[in-house]
Amino acid sequence: MRKVNDRGDPTWRLSTRLMRAGRAQGRESGAVNPPIQRGSTVLFPDIEALHGPGKSYGLEGFGIHDALTEALADISGATGAVLAPSGLAAVTTALLSFTRAGGEVLVTDSVYAPTRRFCDGLLTRHGVTTRYFDPRIGAGIEAMISPSTQIIFLESPGSLTLEIQDAPAITRIAKARGIATIIDDTWSAGLHFKPFDHGVDVSVQALTKYQAGHADVLLGATLALDPAHVARLKQTVKELGLGCGAAEDAYLTLRGLRTMPLRIERQSASGLAVAEWLSRRPEVARVLHPALASHPDHALFQRDFTGAAGVFSIVLKPVAKARLAAMLDGLALFGLGFSWGGYESLVINCTEQETRKVARWTEPGALLRFSIGLEDPADLIADLDAGFARLAG
Ligand SMILES: *Cc1c(COP(=O)(O)O)cnc(C)c1O
Repeated sequence: MRKVNDRGDPTWRLSTRLMRAGRAQGRESGAVNPPIQRGSTVLFPDIEALHGPGKSYGLEGFGIHDALTEALADISGATGAVLAPSGLAAVTTALLSFTRAGGEVLVTDSVYAPTRRFCDGLLTRHGVTTRYFDPRIGAGIEAMISPSTQIIFLESPGSLTLEIQDAPAITRIAKARGIATIIDDTWSAGLHFKPFDHGVDVSVQALTKYQAGHADVLLGATLALDPAHVARLKQTVKELGLGCGAAEDAYLTLRGLRTMPLRIERQSASGLAVAEWLSRRPEVARVLHPALASHPDHALFQRDFTGAAGVFSIVLKPVAKARLAAMLDGLALFGLGFSWGGYESLVINCTEQETRKVARWTEPGALLRFSIGLEDPADLIADLDAGFARLAG
């Protein structure tokens, strides 16, 4: 008889463990992958079991959701993962879990724009104020903390502008003051940055991006090390009635995880090749990629990250809008669209999305954000080269 090792061996390296993660679920069927279980009602054998400790309703998800959370926790070294129907819902769940009316949250000024919208909107209306801090504040965060500070919210690298935060310096101060820290770690996908090793309490992942990896799923997760934090996150999702996404989406995300390290390896290598090529172009004022030595936070990146992702930005030298449109509208391989982490390359002109409050964005040229996909980087470079020819007119 062959011995089937469903759980995997904790001494295996990550990409090996990922081949087994979640496979214990539905093993009876003999299939390699867990089954997709849809449902609302859960039936019980007797009235005694109705109010027992197990799953009681479909909002809590089924085996496929458990398989995914098990795998996510394994990647990140978390005690538990809690699913949410989108990455943004995971962000808002985390913020709502650790705030109360009368409190305040400190949020990096480089934060994902919809996170800012939530803080300035619903959170403010419910009596929690937000103050923004310079993403490069580091230990200077101490001076911003007040008696009502309940959370410090990090995102590293920052959305669009890619600042690396000194997470250990910030979490050390937060811990000493009993303040919870949350990081939006979507860029690293929990792979090349380990939030819990750097003292962060809660990690947020938009699974929509690299985990699902094929631009066909919206899903998010919050992860924590402390079981009390995991319980709090679960309670918030339950109280909000959020549920944990469709079973098919959980299945696709788990499937995506098997190849995620491979995809990120290729996308980060191609991303670096494209970024290096761009940094030699006369039309480009700056390349914002933390793995390049020219990035102001490169030393922090090297200290805290073990690798890059395929998402970075550039600042162009100032050009007329019509010329920029000629360049971007005519690209053959780069799609124009939001989100990232899929197999196809994307670019957005995000100059108008820069609405920072304290660390003002003053670059005069256009800010372009790239997500590098799985195409051959030589073809991507040729596409951009033709774009620069259109830019010149
Ligand atoms: C995309 C994204 C999110 C939100 O994810 P959705 O699943 O699209 O809601 C949150 N944070 C960051 C940094 C993101 O890039």
